[in-house]
Amino acid sequence: MLKDKFGRRFHYLRLSVTDVCNFSCDYCLPDGYQCDSDRNFLGLSEIRQICAGFADLGTKKIRITGGEPSLRKDLPQIIQIAASTTGVEQVAITTNGYRLEQQVDSWVDAGLNLLNVSIDSLDPRMFESITGHDKLETILSGIKRGLERGLKVKVNGVLMRQYNGNELGAFLSWLKHTPITFRLIELMETGDNKDFFKLNHLSGEPIKQYLLENGWSPVIQNNTAGPAQEFWHPDYQGKIGLIMPYSKDFCATCNRLRISATGKLHLCLFADKGLDIRPYLQQTDTLELQQQLQQLLGDKDATHWLDQGFTGATKHLAMLGG
Ligand code: SAM
Ligand code: SF4
Repeated sequence: MLKDKFGRRFHYLRLSVTDVCNFSCDYCLPDGYQCDSDRNFLGLSEIRQICAGFADLGTKKIRITGGEPSLRKDLPQIIQIAASTTGVEQVAITTNGYRLEQQVDSWVDAGLNLLNVSIDSLDPRMFESITGHDKLETILSGIKRGLERGLKVKVNGVLMRQYNGNELGAFLSWLKHTPITFRLIELMETGDNKDFFKLNHLSGEPIKQYLLENGWSPVIQNNTAGPAQEFWHPDYQGKIGLIMPYSKDFCATCNRLRISATGKLHLCLFADKGLDIRPYLQQTDTLELQQQLQQLLGDKDATHWLDQGFTGATKHLAMLGG
């Protein structure tokens, strides 16, 4: 079992399979993807070793992320590898939804259980102004198809003062008849978005208070759940969640580790550096990888220092997948 010195257990792996993205979200890659880094991404045999090594240490849930994971042509094979790993119970993906409508069937056929799609606004023009793409309608159709295929769907929206700060009503109306969980993520400061962050960060706390005062109740979570505080309401088919990385004790329930698309272990989204595990992926068994992971976990800090503006090595979240 992967356990750190603070007693936290790590059941959940976020595996980035590319850092390339075709969107240019204002808070993440405002100038689009810049090809300025190593693009020697993990291959299928390395991904198989990672999934097996983590699963042998108790990982039950694997999320495939990026950059934009659907830009990898072998994504169905990646999903299939994760889903067929002994011990892995859930395979999830986080996507911008660009190729969702065309590809979601192949993902489900490969073994996908959970789908997270990013939608920062339900106003098509605002959506385009944030992401650079007029794609909201087809993304919503893709979500519908995912629901028809039995996927559990979560939608993520980054909360931004100047963009969607007044869209709570629109999101709640959508949830009235849509059986998804919509999570508002507080904007996080990264190396590249410092000015944008200052102008746009909003706390989720007033929204939480509003929900509690208007008939929404907290959902009880299990140990592979993410960091969202989720709420349900008897009159709504959907749930709403808040991810508040600046709130006190956010890190106390941390249950995830991250691997970058080039095979670096990141003990935290905002760690100073990634730790190379690629040399341990070439073996026939996973024993050395397991030993290495356990040893590296010894350096995991109790918390990030985001509230003091320390964003570590993370220039933007496309590097690691959020
Ligand atoms: N491209 C995929 C997508 O957008 O869903 C996966 C990668 S993206 C980095 C993962 C998640 O991180 C998305 O929901 C995105 O909105 C969120 N994200 C990116 N930058 C962020 C930031 N600075 N603060 C909060 N969330 C951020
Ligand atoms: Fe791409 Fe996702 Fe970043 Fe948007 S948030 S630019 S879709 S990686």
